[in-house]
Amino acid sequence: MIVVMKAGAPKAEIDAVCALIRSEGLEAFVSEGQERTIIGVVGIDIDRVAHVGTMPGVEQAIRVTSPHKLASLEHQRDRTRITIGGKTGIPIGAGAPLVVMAGPCSVESPEMLIETATLVKREGAHVLRGGAYKPRTSPYAFQGLGEDGLKLLATARDATGLPIVSEMTDASQMELFEQYVDIIQIGSRNMHNFTLLRAAGQGRTPVLLKRGFGATIDEWLMAAEYVLSAGNANVILCERGIRTFEHATRNTLDLSAVPVLREMTHLPVVVDPSHGTGKRSLVGAMSLGAAAVGADGLIIEVHPDPPHARSDGDQSLSFPEFGALMDELRRLEYLKRGSERAPRMATVPASVDDMRERIDDIDETLLGLVDERAQLALAISDAKGSDGNGHDPRREHALLDRARAMAGGALDGEELEQVMSAVLRASRQMQRRHTAAKRDDVRAPA
Ligand code: PEP
Ligand code: MN
Repeated sequence: MIVVMKAGAPKAEIDAVCALIRSEGLEAFVSEGQERTIIGVVGIDIDRVAHVGTMPGVEQAIRVTSPHKLASLEHQRDRTRITIGGKTGIPIGAGAPLVVMAGPCSVESPEMLIETATLVKREGAHVLRGGAYKPRTSPYAFQGLGEDGLKLLATARDATGLPIVSEMTDASQMELFEQYVDIIQIGSRNMHNFTLLRAAGQGRTPVLLKRGFGATIDEWLMAAEYVLSAGNANVILCERGIRTFEHATRNTLDLSAVPVLREMTHLPVVVDPSHGTGKRSLVGAMSLGAAAVGADGLIIEVHPDPPHARSDGDQSLSFPEFGALMDELRRLEYLKRGSERAPRMATVPASVDDMRERIDDIDETLLGLVDERAQLALAISDAKGSDGNGHDPRREHALLDRARAMAGGALDGEELEQVMSAVLRASRQMQRRHTAAKRDDVRAPA
């Protein structure tokens, strides 16, 4: 801490400040300038003289070290990586691939939960979310299924292999949550509930600490400090939007918090675009934005029938919307291939009809992507001019090499190469056809 004295402060006031600092076991280094005196304070527990700024003759006291002792980068330079769901679970933070947590706002029934869990798993989500104890703004709104909800989540975890995250609303629930969940969520409304934070700090289960909707980043990190200082190092921060004068969205999702936190803390950061916007139509764009600014994970509300959800239907994605978002995250390489972390289909119990339906979806996506690729190839040949064609043999060879190297799933290298060769062949044929059509147009103008 640096204590700046007022210009011309008398020696007696300077001495009194130094005496206070030393009486607390800290060191005071006095530097006398032409006009004013500056006192450097050094020691372990600077907070003991936090009130020095109000002493006579003091202009201001400036903290130079972070007040977030355990959460700050000063305390720990290496970013924290937390493993979700036990030792062999899913890593989050410190450059681990983006983790997607998805599921309903509230656990409503066994059927809807297992249906949602199976779907989000199949689309590549890594963690299942679901509220069992719901802190609702109105006491008349659905309050959640309580312990029964936690049991249903645990059953869905057994069926899909997805670890689960659920919100704890009271310190007395700690034992129950330790028994059932893989991540304890502390909700926005409870970010300042220091008893609850201390309780979550007693265990080792990772804690997803949501930002209070009226909290600054400093206050949020101080809340994290409560959990960390109670002994639980597994804290994940979650930006979920703050209340501002803007009413176009339910909250204002502060995406700048992600890079700001990167400069302040080693803890992983997750973004919740569902509560952050309150609107289904905005969730996809803000998810991509969050991934682009470096979030370590996303938590997204998904429901089999959003208009009939018992809570937060307006911001919940339908199954096809969630699938499309996961495709987009993968296309932009924010999401690594699901197979890198877990076998995609193998553990999902699905009927033949379900699997056929999924294949139809995949085929449709594939055809759309192949056509998008063809349009880009055509745009390249147009950009190269009349003699050009879009294909570049060196790039094609490199692509086939990459295809072969991706073997490891069901298809072997040769089969993967065949698939990409067919795409390239069709693309070249399409380019020739377009070039010929253009030539004909030039020869025979209408
Ligand atoms: C939730 O995740 O369902 C929830 C209630 O979130 P928040 O605490 O951010 O409002
Ligand atoms: Mn919700």
